This record gives sequence, C-alpha cells and structure tokens, in this order.
Amino acid sequence: MRVLLVGGAGYIGSHVARRLSERGYIPVIYDNFSTGHRRFIDRFEVIHGEIADYECLRHFLKNVDAVMHFAARAYVGESVLKPREYYATNMTDALTLLNATVDAGISKFIFSSSCAVYGAPEQLPITETTPRFPLSPYGQTKAAFEDALKSYSAAYGLKFVALRYFNAAGADESGMLGELRSPETHLIPLVLKAASGHSPAVSIFGNDYDTPDGTCIRDYVHVNDLASAHVSALDLLIHKGESDVFNLGTGTGFSVLEVISAAEEVSALHVPRLILPRRPGDPPVLICDGEYARKKLHWSPQRGLIEILSTAWKWQIINTAVGAESAVC
Ligand code: UDP
Repeated sequence: MRVLLVGGAGYIGSHVARRLSERGYIPVIYDNFSTGHRRFIDRFEVIHGEIADYECLRHFLKNVDAVMHFAARAYVGESVLKPREYYATNMTDALTLLNATVDAGISKFIFSSSCAVYGAPEQLPITETTPRFPLSPYGQTKAAFEDALKSYSAAYGLKFVALRYFNAAGADESGMLGELRSPETHLIPLVLKAASGHSPAVSIFGNDYDTPDGTCIRDYVHVNDLASAHVSALDLLIHKGESDVFNLGTGTGFSVLEVISAAEEVSALHVPRLILPRRPGDPPVLICDGEYARKKLHWSPQRGLIEILSTAWKWQIINTAVGAESAVC
C-alpha cells in the first residue's frame, strides 16, 4: 500500500516514513522543502511539490491509497504575530490537499493535530472530550481543520484519524534523523545546545507558575512512539474504517527544571540557565490522558524522558549529511 506523506521530509514525517517502510507500507514523500530535509528521506520516492498546488497533488494522488498530512506552520508564538500565514498554510492550503484527496477518491486521511487545540484546560489529564479552547492562531487552525475533516467525513465518506500530539521530542535511535529547524524554539534541543556549549545558556520562561518548582510542565512524547501511532492509525482505518481522534502523550509531565536536570544526567554536562519572564500563551501544565489511544488504537509510548534525551543527544552529536534526488512538480 502506497501512502503519500505531505510534509514528509520534516521532523515527524521523516520518522513516520521510516516506520511505515519497516511495516511494509510504501511511503511517498511530497514536500516543498521549505523546512524539510532531503537527507531525512533520501531512500524513498520524493516529489518536490506545493501543498497549494491542486493539479500537482491530483497527479501524484493517482497512485496512492492513503494520505498523511504533516505540512504545517507550527510555531505557537509566530502564529500570534503572523496569523495570516498560519491560516493560509494550515487552513487554505490544507483544504486544497483535502479537496484533492477527496476528488481523487482516496478515503483514508491521517492528520497531525496538536494538544494546542485545548488551550489551557483546567481539567487534567486532558482527554479527547476535554473542551477545545485554542489560545493561539496555530491551535485555532488545527481545531478548524479537525472540524473540516468531520464535515468531509459526514458528506463525502472520507475516513480520518486526527492525532493530537503533546510535546514531540527525541530522535531516531540511529542518530540519522532528529529535530533540525531554524530558529530552534523547542525546549529539549535548546537545553542540549546549552549543555554542549553551542549556546551560552537555556532560557527558562517563567519560574513563578503554580507548579511544584514554579516552571511549566509538559508531556514529552518520543518521536518514534508518535511514528508508531501513525502506523496504528493507518491499520485502524484499513481494518475498522472509522474516523476518530486520539491524544498522543505519555501521561507523565516534567517541568522545565526537571528536563534540565535529566539532560545534565544524560550528557554528564552542566546546563547553564537563565530565568526570563513568562512566554505569552504558555499554559502552566499540559498532561495527556492516553487511555483512549491505548484501548482503541492499541498504542502506548514505549520510551520515557531519558530515552528522549539520550536519542536527542546522540542526534546532536552525530547530525551528518547525505544528499538526495527528487521529482519536481
Ligand atoms: N521553554 C523554556 N525555554 C525555552 C523553550 C521553551 O522555558 O527556550 C518552556 C516553554 O515555556 C514550555 C516548555 O518549555 O513551558 C516547552 O516548550 P516548547 O517550545 O518546547 O513546546 P510547547 O509546549 O510550546 O509546544
């Protein structure tokens, strides 16, 4: 079975491609390489195309059986400053992909959603039925696209799975794939850069939250566990053919200071830090209730914070380059 991974050259898509291939699926990468990396997917069939290009999508959708959609703008803070860009890519362009998928007669669609759809919920841990109150344009576009999927499912027979990731982190155990973006904004790569001296210190955005040590708590989930969840979601669509929505997280939260301590343990290096004011829009605590994914998707994460940090540390140390060829639309 051939699966089109739109945005498949990025951090999560490239890990999913590997896992699909190990499980006997054929991943086909469709990416404009605005933030993706050819060397991450050089062993697979690659199409250099735009998500907004309906004709190009239709052409390449002729030969696939399912679509996974990873191509999105994904910086919460940036989305507040540039909502226009976020709505254009994450809604308008994503709808072009959805229309092309439905018009091509493909009925299986897997969407990278986010816990950002929940905003700052009072009820913890967060279940799939926790009300959605996204606080940023990024979260709003993810929630709105989920709504579009529901409507398309009801009207056109599309079957979809929306996967609400908590904090994706870590790297492939091979050391050949990992987080590589510019500018880097995520905590774990920034902590490891500070440990290795590639940055002078990691900033801690606020130590006056209502949490045990005053810093924000997040549920960090290993990228290869997320990759396995995509394969399980595809299996579910193939075998059950029912649309659904799942939270993907570990159910355990770690504060910023706990992440820094664990990174010091893994790297055996001191992490210089600096306390800064709170970052606007950061909820104090986000922790996933993974029960529904465990029951219905038969998925639960196999790796914890130490595996996340040790694979991310290996990735940071190795981080080698390999070239790639691709078809151009
Ligand atoms: N954070 C931090 N310093 C940084 C980057 C992040 O203190 O340089 C904090 C951030 O405020 C949040 C947590 O680390 O509480 C995770 O942030 P990240 O940007 O990695 O993911 P997010 O939760 O925003 O999706």
